[in-house]
Amino acid sequence: MGSRKVTSSEPLDWQGKHVTVAGLGVSGIPAAKVLHARGAHVTVVNDGDDARAREQAAELEALGITVRLGDGATLPEGTDLIVTAPGWKPDKPLFEAARAAGVEIWGDVELAWRLRGPDAAPWLAITGTNGKTTTTQMLASILKAAGLRTAAVGNIGVSVLDAVLGEEQYDVLAVELSSYQLHWAPSLRAHSAAVLNLAPDHLDWHGSMEAYARDKGRIYEGNRIACVYNVADKATEDLVREADVEEGCRAIGFTLGSPGPSQLGLVDGILVDRAFVENRQKNAQELAEISDVNPPAPHNVANALAAAALARAFGVPPKAVRDGLRAFTPDAHRIAHVADVDGVAYVDDSKATNTHAAEASLAAYESIVWIAGGLAKGASFEELVAKSAKRLRGVVLIGADRALIREALARHAPEVPVVDLDRTDTGAMLQAVTEAKRLAQPGDTVLLAPACASMDMFTNYNKRGDAFAEAVRELGS
Ligand code: ADP
Repeated sequence: MGSRKVTSSEPLDWQGKHVTVAGLGVSGIPAAKVLHARGAHVTVVNDGDDARAREQAAELEALGITVRLGDGATLPEGTDLIVTAPGWKPDKPLFEAARAAGVEIWGDVELAWRLRGPDAAPWLAITGTNGKTTTTQMLASILKAAGLRTAAVGNIGVSVLDAVLGEEQYDVLAVELSSYQLHWAPSLRAHSAAVLNLAPDHLDWHGSMEAYARDKGRIYEGNRIACVYNVADKATEDLVREADVEEGCRAIGFTLGSPGPSQLGLVDGILVDRAFVENRQKNAQELAEISDVNPPAPHNVANALAAAALARAFGVPPKAVRDGLRAFTPDAHRIAHVADVDGVAYVDDSKATNTHAAEASLAAYESIVWIAGGLAKGASFEELVAKSAKRLRGVVLIGADRALIREALARHAPEVPVVDLDRTDTGAMLQAVTEAKRLAQPGDTVLLAPACASMDMFTNYNKRGDAFAEAVRELGS
């Protein structure tokens, strides 16, 4: 039917192309508008058919875009290309039909990549199970300190499509990419990229750990200057080895230990570069001090080293790395120090929504009263609890799946006192913090690092962190 299918190798002429946009929403609506403006016949398909969807549909229909609500499964006849919201699962019938018909499927990132102009800014790309947002923002801060026009975009506030098509001119973009976005971005070629770490997450979406890792590894495909990996996480280095990169592209490791040649790492509390220096066999370049990293928790120093590696790959001078790290302030609910009350520090890491994140968080403090629990999303807490047991003064459990953590504690930390709060109403956090205060001794840290999603008790992790901070303020007043 109709026009020829869109393929990766073909220059884009959208006139008369039939594009199906899968999913109304943050990426679907701008994608539909842009493609419509370029002359494509756009049909948006959406599973939901609620009041909000109808409102959005009406807005698009007024422009001349077709919208099908309540049917995200059927492939509209004559489709030449699908542009999907990144979260749509690859095994959906819509995609099966598309594959059978030889129709390409792009995500929001692929679309942005394909629509960027000939003089577009290169991308420094970041993925990983945890630390993406923080590292991307650190990188943008460093690039800014070097006087470059840049922004932190992607799976973070500003969409890549807006960044690529907006008025603003950039020298380079710091791009955060999720595993879903990478899955749907077959032709993306970054200047340099980093995979921060790899732990099981979103496996129901990807199907297996191998598939998840493979999608994360796509970020290295076609890199020109550097593939940045985590020396402490061999899986990230394996992905570099498997990637098909441009001739001369280098593998650069980051480590919290002393760096070897072609690595960035730590020497006596100093962040140093042994990769982008003359004579790296013998020399190292000082970049910053650990105290320049905010907060200076070990996993966050690792994030800073990864950001520094990408910035150095782009040619940023050492002083800008230091200045950029000093200027950086983390987003809320990421190891945020809320208050000290009676010699006890209260820290909000509500963003620790999985066990890998919580493990990093717990490793940053010596003696902790840990507030944990929520929706486990199928996770196992054995390893987390076993590794963290010696740091625990006590534990307060909240939320739907708290029994899983309680059982792990009984196995690996039987001597640690546990308060199990059997309530999920809004007052629960105040009680949790009150119990934590009772367990804590001067010098301890009360740490909200739930290792779970928040939706059983709160709208999102922000609200959970806000409730914690409010409870701490009430205690302290
Ligand atoms: P993401 O964008 O990948 O979710 P964030 O920067 O928002 O990452 O951090 C989310 C949480 O992950 C933090 O609150 C912290 O608990 C944890 N975290 C951050 N960096 C790391 C890291 N390098 N390794 C492990 N956990 C981390």
